[in-house]
Amino acid sequence: MTKTRAALAARLSMGLLLLAASVAAQPAPATPVAPRIVAVRAGRLIDPATGSIATDQIILVKGNRFEAIGRGLAIPSGAEVIDLSGLTVLPGLVDTHNHLAITYKEFPERNNYYITVVTESTPLRAIQAASNGIQMLAAGFTIIRDMGNNGNYADTALRQAIEEGWIPGPQIINAGIIIGSAGGQFWPTPEMGARHVVYPEYLDADTPDEIVKAVRQNMLYGAKVIKICADCKPWGYSVEDIKLVVSEAGKAGLKVEAHAQTVDGARRAIEGGVWSIAHDLGLDEANNKLMAKRGTFRAGTETPLSLTGHQTEAGFKRDVASLRNAWENKVNITYSTDADYYVPGKTRGEVAIEFIETWKAAGIPTRDILKAMTTTGYRCAQTETTRGPIKSGLAADLIAVPGNPLESIDALRDVQFVMKDGVVFKQKGVMTPGAFFHGGPVNGLVR
Ligand SMILES: [Zn+2]
Repeated sequence: MTKTRAALAARLSMGLLLLAASVAAQPAPATPVAPRIVAVRAGRLIDPATGSIATDQIILVKGNRFEAIGRGLAIPSGAEVIDLSGLTVLPGLVDTHNHLAITYKEFPERNNYYITVVTESTPLRAIQAASNGIQMLAAGFTIIRDMGNNGNYADTALRQAIEEGWIPGPQIINAGIIIGSAGGQFWPTPEMGARHVVYPEYLDADTPDEIVKAVRQNMLYGAKVIKICADCKPWGYSVEDIKLVVSEAGKAGLKVEAHAQTVDGARRAIEGGVWSIAHDLGLDEANNKLMAKRGTFRAGTETPLSLTGHQTEAGFKRDVASLRNAWENKVNITYSTDADYYVPGKTRGEVAIEFIETWKAAGIPTRDILKAMTTTGYRCAQTETTRGPIKSGLAADLIAVPGNPLESIDALRDVQFVMKDGVVFKQKGVMTPGAFFHGGPVNGLVR
């Protein structure tokens, strides 16, 4: 390179740096119009935290937040009035364990997700995730913890697309790539090698250095929670390994969920200080008691028998008994589905809501099922002070059903109305998502 060309290249790169800096420094565009005011008339309004119900309530929404809630509130002039006086209004539902960017199927892969991940690209799966998110929102789920198996960060892309204002969808708390001992949940052949089949479904991390690097990679690429495989391999992670994950994730304020499939693995995860445990395979009474003592959240993913082909009689009995035992031991039980497959005739949201069958079979009182699907879910998702409860200052998300879920949880199968961020997404049982679509990032750029 000549001196002149080197100088030119240096000036060019400095120019690019300045350009990048000015782009990064630009504030989000200001909203030129005054925030709209919406008044929702709620015939009945449920507070799942207390299991109580109030009648004839007015819910005022200003912009994307709740402004005030109460009986006989004055409706400001010019407010848009939404009449839900014939319905029961309640806060949105939470699924604390789903995988929106994977859908395995009977054909062609016989429900074997090894095949799905090698036959479907991340871009295709990201589009599926957008669709699945819309299907979950239509069923009343306004918050989803999206726990990995999402290709090359399709979950981050989904969260960004929703938060920036391109498409409607639930609030996503995404895990990025699941971190585990080599192979993750897969057992690759030597020919395929870990990097060819395992990545990006799993991020190999066997040593302390690799564990730290893997956690940082996920945080760099937009994860909001860290997911590890505690015991997907017989050697698994030690308590010390898990403590390292928890402390590294904690540097960015992230919590850790452990997939555990053995009693020993679950115990190590609880002792290592994880925030939540996925799946009930390792959750015996001793672990349930330990979780209750430490406040660990349970995302048991208890599949109902009614999802034919995805549960066995023996598995269902075990799930029901484990869930019942967790409830009796006062564990922080959340509603979690692991719904990552196609059930013909059902939307992803309808598959997710089907899991109430296991909760009913376990004899969990209806108000406690609702609490798991809302209040405890908000705490697990760490949104309880920003989104979830119908409370002034919080994001204006609510749903409405004709029945009363405190009397029959099946009422949640008929979500007629959904509002997300103060915008109506579904009314009279029909999705009306037009106001959510924009030709640009109206909420600014999101990392
Ligand atoms: Zn899962």
